[in-house]
Order: sequence, then C-alpha cells, then structure tokens
Amino acid sequence: MVKTKSVVDVKEIPEKIICDACGREIEKINDGIFADYYKIEKTWGYFSEKDGRQDSFDICEKCYDKMLKAIGLQNKISE
Ligand SMILES: [Zn+2]
Repeated sequence: MVKTKSVVDVKEIPEKIICDACGREIEKINDGIFADYYKIEKTWGYFSEKDGRQDSFDICEKCYDKMLKAIGLQNKISE
C-alpha cells in the first residue's frame, strides 16, 4: 500500500531574457514564454584555438539578422 501526500513542486522558469548583443529584452509573451530568439551553446574542441571554452549566447531576432548579414549568410537562408 502506498499512502500519498500533496506537495508543491517549485520549478524555475525564465523571468527575463536579454539579448547578449544589443542588451534589449526578448519580448515576453506569457509566463515562461518568450518571442523566439537564437540560443547558441558551443563547447570548443581540442582542434581549435579555443580548446575547452564554453560559449553561450542568447541573441534576439534583429541581431540574428544582423549577424547573418555580417558574415554573408543572409542569402543562404531557405524559406
Ligand atoms: Zn539583440
């Protein structure tokens, strides 16, 4: 026999997301729900000049578009 009791499970949700490039807040739609943004998480490997470095960036849509343009990828997007 299992007897149960009620417990409150607290979970962490993002309250605010800030673009690491321009510093603007990503638009909050609802609690824990935000406008879409570009999340980059990269651990550089041994055969790079950044061995072991962990990069993590949250980038808003406007800065994402600027980034693609800056590196010449804006014309390679598949619609
Ligand atoms: Zn931005």
